[in-house]
Amino acid sequence: MKRKLIITIDGPSGAGKSTVSQLLAEKLKYQYIDTGALYRVVALKVKQENLDPEDEDGLSLLCNRLDVCFGKKNGKLGFFLEGKDVSEEIRTPEMSLLASGVSAKKVVRDALLKIQRKLGDGGGIVVEGRDMGTVVFPEAEVKFFLNASLNIRGERRFKQYRDKGKVFDLDKIIREIEKRDSDDTRRALSPLKPADDAIEVDSTKMNLEEVVEAMLKIVQQRLPSSSK
Ligand code: C5P
Repeated sequence: MKRKLIITIDGPSGAGKSTVSQLLAEKLKYQYIDTGALYRVVALKVKQENLDPEDEDGLSLLCNRLDVCFGKKNGKLGFFLEGKDVSEEIRTPEMSLLASGVSAKKVVRDALLKIQRKLGDGGGIVVEGRDMGTVVFPEAEVKFFLNASLNIRGERRFKQYRDKGKVFDLDKIIREIEKRDSDDTRRALSPLKPADDAIEVDSTKMNLEEVVEAMLKIVQQRLPSSSK
């Protein structure tokens, strides 16, 4: 039987992880997994329940009965909380910051770790996040750390919002990304950092196709010969 790989893509906000991971997964016919969305769904639930994000017991209860799943709807990947499509609701600047806040809590990370490992069972995945190569899938065959300059990342996020008809101040977006990256990097648990064996890709001066092409080349070198 052909062995399928685990490919991890970590990196700061706005580096292009989601788009690149999806394209790479499509080309390889692998499953794409967005772990940031899981933290965002927890954040949304915290908001809906008016829970204090510092309340660890409350967070623990919430995570242990979290009813989250993802699947395709009208050809697009969607995230469902208790059966309701929340794909758009979780993508606001408010949810970004709240997700970063709750992601620093041990009870949340422990609960989501189990979910993520289960999703990765059997390999054949391109999974993106902050600690995929370091903590969740340390055994992954291919690890990338995707980065780009802060300004470029801010501009990309600004355009993403604009394409959805949402206009936010560019400067504010850049500051929000800067704060989130700083919090994600400095936290004690599973901080954002490249795994020792990660291949670092700086996409500041590369377009999407160039990044995917470069990654694909590396993945193909590592595929077992029977599945090339
Ligand atoms: O990737 P995304 O921007 O959607 O992630 C939202 C937040 O979730 C991040 O800022 C980070 O704090 C947290 N996260 C994490 N570990 C992951 C994925 C996301 O801590 N594997």
